[in-house]
Amino acid sequence: MSFSELGLEPELTRAVADKGYDAPTPIQRQAIPAVLAGRDLLAGAQTGTGKTAGFVLPLLQKLGRAEGRAPRVLVLTPTRELAAQVAQSAIDYGAHKNLRTRVIFGGVGENPQIEALRAGCDILVATPGRLLDLANRRLADLSQVAHFVLDEADRMLDMGFIHDIRRVMQLLPPERQNLLFSATYSDDIRSLAARLLRDPVHVDVAPRNSTAERVEQVAFRVDKEHKRHLLVHLFGHGATDEGPWYQALVFTRTKHGANRLAQQLEGAGIRAAAIHGNKSQSARVRALADFKAGKITALVATEVASRGLDIKELPQVVNYELPNVPEDYVHRIGRTARAGATGRAVSLVAPDETGLLRDIERTMRQSVPFIETPRFAVVRHESPPRAEAQRGGHRAASAEQTGPKQPRPGQGRPARRSGKPAGAPRRFGDGRPGRTGGGFRSGRM
Ligand code: AMP
Repeated sequence: MSFSELGLEPELTRAVADKGYDAPTPIQRQAIPAVLAGRDLLAGAQTGTGKTAGFVLPLLQKLGRAEGRAPRVLVLTPTRELAAQVAQSAIDYGAHKNLRTRVIFGGVGENPQIEALRAGCDILVATPGRLLDLANRRLADLSQVAHFVLDEADRMLDMGFIHDIRRVMQLLPPERQNLLFSATYSDDIRSLAARLLRDPVHVDVAPRNSTAERVEQVAFRVDKEHKRHLLVHLFGHGATDEGPWYQALVFTRTKHGANRLAQQLEGAGIRAAAIHGNKSQSARVRALADFKAGKITALVATEVASRGLDIKELPQVVNYELPNVPEDYVHRIGRTARAGATGRAVSLVAPDETGLLRDIERTMRQSVPFIETPRFAVVRHESPPRAEAQRGGHRAASAEQTGPKQPRPGQGRPARRSGKPAGAPRRFGDGRPGRTGGGFRSGRM
């Protein structure tokens, strides 16, 4: 099945060919004809499935040419990263059309956004807060919206946007096409869908598990106080001695924890940056660009900041701390293995987190095996590094207790690295013996 067989016009099939897509993904095969036919849509699809093109492509076609000043498509997203990414997709897929895409979100100056809206807009991608602010001041005109998309609706509800969503809906004309995308179906999503959608086509191509199944998932037992040392080891050697990691997205629970861990990694000679809601938009954009360009090896992120991050072929996701909500684990590991690629998710599990891991396994209906914790050094930052490799986290604990406790950020010595350049791309599944050789243990804690 090709994109043109789905009914897409040549301007759009050319654009997807420019992007290098060979064939539509399952969500695209189902969503594109339904949206072209003007139907409402309830789509169970998580990020990584190609859902963005699933709604952007047919809506670009329905819009035809640029017209008027007020937007005819409105896409609401939970985060600014996702808004920027969806807008970029609309620009890319619309490269051979003359439609005007604008994006508005908080945390940056509003004037350029107001100017852009004034200049005319066909497709508006927005986060709810800034949109309502501008709409209430009559700086954003939503009276012409004929197609309304709620992207990652479950996340929007999790983030407390339900009232904002309702307020936005009140500003839209009653006659319109509505599309709702959500990775999960809670009762809240169902009632939102019932209120929003009229006789929707149901598309559920990406059951939650499908990403999870493509991601190789492993867990290490490690005491909380040794996680950072194990992580430094993993960056230097890999999870199964396969070689240094050149790119890993590391999740922490808190913003403070993200900052501290990024500093500790830097102290150990690993280029790192933190990305979370307290960082300015420009700092987040810069960190992401540096990460994509390979200038930094570790991007340390909190849950919310990670939404919408689209990093091609991201090989590693690390759960430095497990999330409290199993769905968040699925979202996190969905950062790797995007659009059919495979990747690996590594979880560092302290004794008090094993219950969380069990909840996650129950939700995914899939087990996450513990593999043997590699020998790692508890690196001392104020004395020459002694090759104090310990077997596993527990014995490393006693080693640390005898030495200085806290490395001072910025004073660390580089992590021991193997001879391979850290920047050299490396894919998994290359059949190296280290990957399965003796490392896997099926036992549970
Ligand atoms: P999404 O789920 O919309 O966030 O898309 C995930 C990734 O898949 C993005 O990097 C897209 O560029 C890519 N993608 C979307 N559609 C296709 C396709 N038909 N073939 C290959 N990659 C695609």
